[in-house]
Amino acid sequence: MNRKTLVNFILPGPTGAAERHQSTLFDASDLWGMCKRSSRSLKKTIVLRPQTRVVVMQDGIHYYRRMHPKRPNSPSPQRHDNRRPPASPAFDRLIQRPVCPEDDRPLPKIVAKGAVWHPFLFRRQLGDFDPKAQPGDLVEVVNTSGITQGFGLFNPKAEIAVRLLRTGVNQPDDVWWSERMESAVALRREVLKLDSVTDAYRVIHAEADGLPGLVVDKFGDVLVAECFSLGMYQRAEAILSMLEPICGTRHGVMRPGPNSIDHEGFMAVPTGSEGLPAKSTIQEFGTQFRVDFAGGHKTGFYCDQRDNRKKLAEFCAGKSVLDLCCYTGGFAVQAKKLGQAEDVTGVELDESAAALARDNAKLNKIKLNIVQADAFSYMRDMLRNGKKYDVVVLDPPKLIRSRDEIEDGRRKYYDFNRLAMQLVAPDGILLTCSCSGLLDLAEFSKIVCAAPEFGRRVQVLIKGGAAADHPIATICPESEYLKTMWLRLE
Ligand code: SAH
Repeated sequence: MNRKTLVNFILPGPTGAAERHQSTLFDASDLWGMCKRSSRSLKKTIVLRPQTRVVVMQDGIHYYRRMHPKRPNSPSPQRHDNRRPPASPAFDRLIQRPVCPEDDRPLPKIVAKGAVWHPFLFRRQLGDFDPKAQPGDLVEVVNTSGITQGFGLFNPKAEIAVRLLRTGVNQPDDVWWSERMESAVALRREVLKLDSVTDAYRVIHAEADGLPGLVVDKFGDVLVAECFSLGMYQRAEAILSMLEPICGTRHGVMRPGPNSIDHEGFMAVPTGSEGLPAKSTIQEFGTQFRVDFAGGHKTGFYCDQRDNRKKLAEFCAGKSVLDLCCYTGGFAVQAKKLGQAEDVTGVELDESAAALARDNAKLNKIKLNIVQADAFSYMRDMLRNGKKYDVVVLDPPKLIRSRDEIEDGRRKYYDFNRLAMQLVAPDGILLTCSCSGLLDLAEFSKIVCAAPEFGRRVQVLIKGGAAADHPIATICPESEYLKTMWLRLE
């Protein structure tokens, strides 16, 4: 992945004449991945369509730049592009498009067999597809009598074949998109007043903000869009440019959700706007954190735990704290910085996240013990050593990603919690979390309550979830993904 390739390419210039450009790409196959061009043409000179993004590698990030936006009278790129093979559907799917179709042609129709209200329409719920419907298209959803039920983004390759944007007969237009975004930003800024405590928050939380398949986090002057559907990925550039003036940000990153190839049948790498820094520093209740846009998990930082990190700090003064699965040290740093903990250990499997946790300790001029290790092995070692902690945080990754993993995932939650509880000192606190949407709070609570050693009295102090910038859609219970339980163990 680190091999850099100098690539020459030709684009039609402002007058339509061919212009030669040169760029460094980190791997020719990556340009292939992004643009799906003929591999033969990548050897030295490639020819891109106008409007195609030019992908330039700097510090692990690809930069996009619209070279020459479409002008009504611009000559056809075909004139300069004799060797261009016919565009493959995969190439077209990765092209960015406007949020709404540019012409007034009727939308392709997709038949839904049952009621249309939930934002996800699974393939099995659909009847006939209009053969004109292309992956990523905005489609009209009709019932079996042909009556319009709503509009959504279509991908026949995905299990969730339509992500519904709007029910009823009105097609989402530019005004609809801007209203969704303005309303989402107003919640964070005017209602929750998040700017007074942090510059890192979730601006769009998918179906809960009426935009299924899309999350956008704001990190200072950078917006990071994570797209869980092909349709949203194709509109990410347009969405970011609509959000930028509302949020007052300068840079954008767009990235596909995890396993986009399996879930949505497309592949893309995180792509950032020109001049985007590889990392940036944000603050949360005055504590600073580095966010890595290229190598970080998800959007780069878990804003959902913001309030829980602050709450945890209230239990930490003078205490020993263990942060299991600490990522870049979110809880660990706040336990020391806000909470004045005596000593803090963070355990993280991912080496680069652990390194960033150490950087975060330095940045905040605090001392943390960050261990790069598997939390299970670490807990077993500590148990053998008879080590106990006054405060333990257990925030594992999503252990149940699909229905097939439910049983296995439950067992892992049980094992994790049982071990973590044994490390809590008498009258100590355990904050235990689950971010598996497929495990509801009642089920999670049953697992946690079954885990303590027999004879040890455990009190549940609080049951909670994510911060309010991650609202829950009442029509989509799965959006209540983060569950937290605060326990006191005698
Ligand atoms: N609490 C963190 C977020 C944790 S995300 C915060 O506030 O920012 C979950 C983390 O668990 C990820 O960083 C992942 O790399 C890590 N992880 C996954 N499996 C692990 C394991 N077996 N042992 C330790 N860490 C693990």
